[in-house]
Amino acid sequence: MTMATSYKKGASASIQYVKGVGPKLAILLKKKGIVTVEDALYFLPRTYEDRSKLRTISELEPMEYGLFEAEVLDFEVNRFKGGRKQILTVKVGDGTGKIVCKWFNFSDRYFSDFLKKGAKVFVSGTTSIYNGRMEMHHPDIEPVGRATEDKLHYGRIVPIYSETEGLGQKTIRRIMYNVVENFSNSVEDFMPPAVLSSMKLAPLSESLRQVHFPSKGTDIKSLCDFRNANQKRLIFDEFFVLELAFSIRRRGIKKRPGISFDAKPDWLNMINSKLPFKLTDAQTKVIEEILIDMKSSEPMNRLIQGDVGSGKTIVAFYAAAIAILNGKQVAMMAPTEILAEQHYKNFVKLFGENFKAELLVSSINKIEKQNIKTKIENGEVGFVVGTHALIQEDVNFKDLGLIVVDEQHRFGVEQRLNLIKKGTPDTIVMTATPIPRTLAMTLYGDLDVSVIDEKPSGRQPITTRVVTEDKRKVVYDFVRSEIQKGRQAYFIYPLIEESEKLMLKNVKDAVRHLSAEFKGWNVGLLHGKVRPEEKEAVMRDFKDGKINILVSTTVVEVGIDVPNATVMFIEHPERFGLSQLHQLRGRIGRGEFRSVCILMAGDNPTEASSKRLMAMAATEDGFKIAEQDLELRGPGEFFGTRQHGIPGFRVGNLVRDIDTLVLARNEADRLIKIDPELVMASNRKLRFVLTERFRDKIRLMDS
Ligand code: ADP
Ligand code: MG
Repeated sequence: MTMATSYKKGASASIQYVKGVGPKLAILLKKKGIVTVEDALYFLPRTYEDRSKLRTISELEPMEYGLFEAEVLDFEVNRFKGGRKQILTVKVGDGTGKIVCKWFNFSDRYFSDFLKKGAKVFVSGTTSIYNGRMEMHHPDIEPVGRATEDKLHYGRIVPIYSETEGLGQKTIRRIMYNVVENFSNSVEDFMPPAVLSSMKLAPLSESLRQVHFPSKGTDIKSLCDFRNANQKRLIFDEFFVLELAFSIRRRGIKKRPGISFDAKPDWLNMINSKLPFKLTDAQTKVIEEILIDMKSSEPMNRLIQGDVGSGKTIVAFYAAAIAILNGKQVAMMAPTEILAEQHYKNFVKLFGENFKAELLVSSINKIEKQNIKTKIENGEVGFVVGTHALIQEDVNFKDLGLIVVDEQHRFGVEQRLNLIKKGTPDTIVMTATPIPRTLAMTLYGDLDVSVIDEKPSGRQPITTRVVTEDKRKVVYDFVRSEIQKGRQAYFIYPLIEESEKLMLKNVKDAVRHLSAEFKGWNVGLLHGKVRPEEKEAVMRDFKDGKINILVSTTVVEVGIDVPNATVMFIEHPERFGLSQLHQLRGRIGRGEFRSVCILMAGDNPTEASSKRLMAMAATEDGFKIAEQDLELRGPGEFFGTRQHGIPGFRVGNLVRDIDTLVLARNEADRLIKIDPELVMASNRKLRFVLTERFRDKIRLMDS
């Protein structure tokens, strides 16, 4: 009795409590992120094999999974040429046909006890085609006697886990079986009964058992696609907790005292009279949404999504002007100095006579910086634009009323919160990473979203061409003709200087090469290591048209606006993400001239890279590109490491499970509306889980 209870310590027990797991295995499991029993329960199979029915060899389909019984006809061991690795080839047959099985780098120990001519075996694997013939590579092979006795690895739908060196499939499966048998009841179900019934969720322990060892007859396809009800239950749980946190935070932000800004008609007239162009309908709509938020006594917390070149800046300036006219200060944060300077200049050009503006970046000298900080503290400046220098502790605003974060995806959630702490301002964050709306809701779950879904009229579409090395001369001639017409070009490279590891072109060599190629024209150089003063000078010269060709790394990626530039030449485009290429392409096509983006694919692009580049050429729609990028690279890489505050998911996948995510969000909102503080008895467990999980990541509850 006492033994039994101490054994079943609950889900937080160390994995070492599980039968068959010693210290050595525990170390290997830790590599997979499995430390506790609960970790193991939520370590879901990556796929499944239906080993409940036997086929004949003649029934096997190419590229499909199959299990059959056969006799070993022949086998041999070969060595790779020059290498130490061995290949084992086993020919098996069952009267209906024969098939060759191969193991590359196989382990003697595993096969030696049963591999002989005439041995009866079970073979389980996925077929592949090699030299026009069907083969099986690395199938599971087992003597018939052993396999039929075995109730774990054969005669059922078996889970396939992600492996690690030294931890084979059968070992993991055995461990997982013990975990599920002994502990699937020990995870407490935090889901309130109301949600369980409205979402028709199975009991947690049952779902945990089923996802690891599905009952006979379970539809194998839906399992492999992660659309099985039990898998969805676990995914829902995970998203639900996150969405609850967001939902609570949204309410919390709304509860904070906000500023009821005024927007007097003559102020609006004054602002409108200063605009150098007619706003697009989309810009007008978003400005209206912002004004409603600003007038309201609840704080504004709004994300403006708009493709590159859609004109987000002017929308932010509009809001800034309103705030300053209300006697408040505005802080605008940009990810690079170049961009901050550009915003500063544009603002001064527009409102220089009306408002005092300052630029605060790390590169300005100490005295000057101190000077600006004093002015900010005294309230002498209305508009401050800068880089993350703005969030330093010693920057104090007299009365901060609005913050604008440009290119929000370049900052972490934390950095945004640090700026908010400098007052209780309204917030606008802007991004050109046009992520699908449902995803935006999750990643920026605490924000309201406005979309600028239209570009200023009069823009010429951008032509995108994927070219190979043999077209280089033709391309250069084209660039020359553009420059002769008075236009300008960007040439983008992945590296600053030569690298021993990467055989890639770099900006430093490129400047020499292009200066010779385009003799008589000015070639400028920009990259992350150029001194700030020089950077500024180069950018200014490029904007003023003194530089004809700007050679650069991706530092020009975000925000830079030079309408006269019509050529974007990108070397090694395969080195960049699709969204990044789209951002780069967004540097051109900003004026009245026809623009061309050239992707130099080199001589031997891989199939995957060709596919990506063709996708770029096929559409100018940032949303479509982002969706594709997300699919190709997965959320982790897509959002990059900078996207702090977004927890990793154990079972959910933001792309695959988007529909479950939406369900979870709706359900979370509904619950929070009824019980905002989660104090009802039925929600108490949920409250506990929530505080446990998000204590440091998301400040949510008043508790
Ligand atoms: P992004 O959304 O990429 O930040 P910007 O705000 O830099 O775009 O605007 C891109 C360019 O379009 C700028 O040169 C800007 O002056 C111009 N622009 C913005 N709105 C309009 C408009 N309504 N009509 C014409 N040009 C506009
Ligand atoms: Mg911008």
